[in-house]
Amino acid sequence: MSLETEQINELHWLMEMLHTIDVGLVVLDRQYHIQIWNGFMENHSGLLPREVKGKLIFDLFDEIPKEWFIRKSESVFMLKNKAFTIWEQRPYLFKFLNYRPITGTADYMYQNTTFIPLMSSTGEVTHLCLIVYDVTDNAVHKKELEQANKELSVLSQTDGLTMVFNRSHWEHCLAAEYKRWTRSQHVSSLVMIDIDHFKKINDSYGHVVGDEVIRHLANIIKQHVRETDISGRYGGEEFAILLADTDAENSKFFAERLRKTVEDSVVKYNDIDVKYTISLGLAEIDATMKNHEAWIECADNALYQSKNNGRNQVAHYSKTEE
Ligand code: GH3
Ligand code: MG
Ligand code: MG
Repeated sequence: MSLETEQINELHWLMEMLHTIDVGLVVLDRQYHIQIWNGFMENHSGLLPREVKGKLIFDLFDEIPKEWFIRKSESVFMLKNKAFTIWEQRPYLFKFLNYRPITGTADYMYQNTTFIPLMSSTGEVTHLCLIVYDVTDNAVHKKELEQANKELSVLSQTDGLTMVFNRSHWEHCLAAEYKRWTRSQHVSSLVMIDIDHFKKINDSYGHVVGDEVIRHLANIIKQHVRETDISGRYGGEEFAILLADTDAENSKFFAERLRKTVEDSVVKYNDIDVKYTISLGLAEIDATMKNHEAWIECADNALYQSKNNGRNQVAHYSKTEE
């Protein structure tokens, strides 16, 4: 085989490979007319090379943002450097449908694209090559992972029985609110709630009914709080609520309303009707509380007073009673 034939063969093979390779290859001239269009582009766009050759890329694909694309390409022409765009910035350059069976959840093919300057024999960049990678698998898996992490993070903060915050996350929020107060002296109040004689409910009707009562109280709390308030399940039948921007007077009003609603309601479970009451302790934040634990302790002291004074009532923490 002569050297010339060998070189022609090699060129022919290279062309064949570029045509069948599983990435998109597009060559554009200086005016953004399509010059080369490989098999990948043909298969996904449904347009044959002869149908696109010489056509302005923006006329065929109006999903390509013209201004952005020209700005990016001009820098490649001028600086003779590569440029990239990744799916996180722009999901795709060409809006191709996604046919992959496993990652069929994505409607369109996610793409990463590289822009490569092509030099003529005089060293001038006369053409631009686009290499389009199908990264749908990566993108879908990454998105699924992000979604799973988000759900996991919500789950790890939520109490499974009542769907309010669990104790550790609620305390975390309270600590943040305490810090906020040290900076801004913005008033807020804490409410601790404990169901009265709950052991009796469990003993008389069983744990399942006990759980229903706990859920019932959680729902009443959810109906009474504002969006900015933070409620959590502090213990078995104990709840805690952080009332944002609420002083002692208003927290008393809130607590009394909650107490009365519980007193007036009935928990129905099959043919069992259960009545129950709650005791509440309040503490408006003040400078004597050195950290968020001290704040909880004050509200807890007030709750203890409510219990001592006969239950089914509200008490507010006051420094003189310490
Ligand atoms: P008090 O009025 O003094 O609060 O009396 P109490 O009977 O409510 O006393 P205490 O708060 O000590 O009792 C809490 C009981 O709640 C003890 C425990 O068996 C029960 N408990 C804790 N967690 C759960 C739970 O998730 N479900 C049910 N059904 N019971 C629970
Ligand atoms: Mg208790
Ligand atoms: Mg109790």
